Amino acid sequence: MLIIMRPGARKVETQAVIARIESQGLAAHPIYGEEHTVIGAVGDGRPVNRDQFILMDGVDRVVPISRPFKLASREFSPQDSAFPLNGVSIDPGHVVIIAGPCSVESRSQILEAAHAVKEAGAHALRGGAFKPRTSPYSFQGMGEEGLELLAEAREQTGLPIVTEVMTPEQIPLIAKYADMLQIGARNMQNYSLLKAVGECERSVLIKRGLSSTIDELLMAAEYVLSKGNRRVVLCERGIRTFETATRNTTDINAIPVIKSQTHLPVILDPSHGTGHWEYVTAIARAGIAAGADGLMIEVHPDPDNALSDGGQSLKPERFAEMVLQVKAIAEAVGKKLAPIQ
Ligand code: PEP
Ligand code: MN
Repeated sequence: MLIIMRPGARKVETQAVIARIESQGLAAHPIYGEEHTVIGAVGDGRPVNRDQFILMDGVDRVVPISRPFKLASREFSPQDSAFPLNGVSIDPGHVVIIAGPCSVESRSQILEAAHAVKEAGAHALRGGAFKPRTSPYSFQGMGEEGLELLAEAREQTGLPIVTEVMTPEQIPLIAKYADMLQIGARNMQNYSLLKAVGECERSVLIKRGLSSTIDELLMAAEYVLSKGNRRVVLCERGIRTFETATRNTTDINAIPVIKSQTHLPVILDPSHGTGHWEYVTAIARAGIAAGADGLMIEVHPDPDNALSDGGQSLKPERFAEMVLQVKAIAEAVGKKLAPIQ
């Protein structure tokens, strides 16, 4: 439930409410707004008597949160979440573009990709160093060496780094190098991993599972939020359907649906959503038109020789053209590309 304090409620009154929430075995999640403080009280579903809060000093009202995902819900925070990613503003008025190769493959490859996407207008660099591959015989990523190369690319371009973490044990190493930790589609319901990134200082990007519902994606976000990490971005990346013409089916519906249910930013990955570079720009445009807060795009300087996902990777010049088109669509729906630092 939500305990909404009166405008101007005193600090001691808010503290008394938090203490009572905790004495009931519930977790208190305060949001200190400009006008008033709202405190989320989240338990394990056992009944709680609301009346004991209504009469407390400084309390305006107590309302239940009807959704199973509490902290992720719009009921908890009607305002869209906003936070900086190493200087890039992630907020509802701006479109953020994360771009780069599927995997870090070599020093020259990642540096060339980083400079190219920066020049085209990207805001952050992606690249996997630990790769979740369907086959154990496929390229598994460069590991820590890949992370070092990503850090060098950040140093040269200023772009924040987004990279995947596959196990809780990898978090301390990856968090040393990355600005945003990516939870891949295959790990969206890896609850120990979600809890562990919830306890870490880095922003988190959660990709929708291949066969996961929107509610399941929001419950994955809830795991991270419930551990205290509020810097969470959701990513629609296509789902499995009967269609075989594309690798996945981009669920464009998911964008306005997710945004109606949660205050968290939502981005679209049309590279995995389609699996073919030819369709990436069209679906990127569609995603922004549908209200996405950003895009994740695979870009490779030499897609024909990529070690993973070459067929869905844009060449740098095509990516630059995509950015121009996305900018026009963003402006048509009342947004702007996030400013470049
Ligand atoms: C990726 O971003 O390269 C990736 C593996 O994505 P997903 O987890 O969505 O398949
Ligand atoms: Mn990929």
